[in-house]
Amino acid sequence: MRTFDSSKLVIATHNAGKLREISALLAPFDVAVTSAGELGLEEPEETEATFIGNARIKAHFAAKASGYPALADDSGIEVDALGGRPGVYTADWAETPNGRDFVLAMTRVWEECEGIAAPQPRRARFRATLCLAWPDGHDEIFEGAAEGQLVWPMRGNQGFGFDPMFLPDGHDLTFGEMSPEQKAPLTHRTAAFEKLVAGCFAR
Ligand code: IMP
Repeated sequence: MRTFDSSKLVIATHNAGKLREISALLAPFDVAVTSAGELGLEEPEETEATFIGNARIKAHFAAKASGYPALADDSGIEVDALGGRPGVYTADWAETPNGRDFVLAMTRVWEECEGIAAPQPRRARFRATLCLAWPDGHDEIFEGAAEGQLVWPMRGNQGFGFDPMFLPDGHDLTFGEMSPEQKAPLTHRTAAFEKLVAGCFAR
């Protein structure tokens, strides 16, 4: 596995919630962090049908465009009663002509579960795939998951995306009700990031 020894890293996302969380994870490390948004990079189209495929697209695009290693996250929520949907298409379920609407997307998920009278608890998990890509085309992939169940109505207005309807196993607060410090140790993103640190960051 390749060691990360650059002084600079691009976070290949335009998603403010992901950027906040990934920046916090990188804060203890001696690396200058910038983002695809700050560099004015375009958002490449996510044309693959897997988290790995889309994480690769985003990371390689940003690494080539910036000349620095780039870290991308592709993530989503899988609902067992819906056969794993929305999964890799989680962000797409929020698309409207006026931008993304996650209340609409969460309502659709709950209504689809209601429509098939899915038994409770409605098991779900967030998945995250991180891709660390270098400008020469090399990459490393790390995956993480967070298990839990869906709750309705939504609870909390912290976090982002589907956080208000996700109750992680072993906790009474949804991700939407948790502070960033409470959510961080429980997430799919942190689980993947810990593997990245173990594999690529010299300590
Ligand atoms: P993508 O990786 O850009 O395709 O988008 C993934 C989508 O999954 C995000 O837009 C969020 O809606 C959702 N998602 C991923 N991680 C989280 C999380 O930690 N909390 C809530 N929603 C998330």
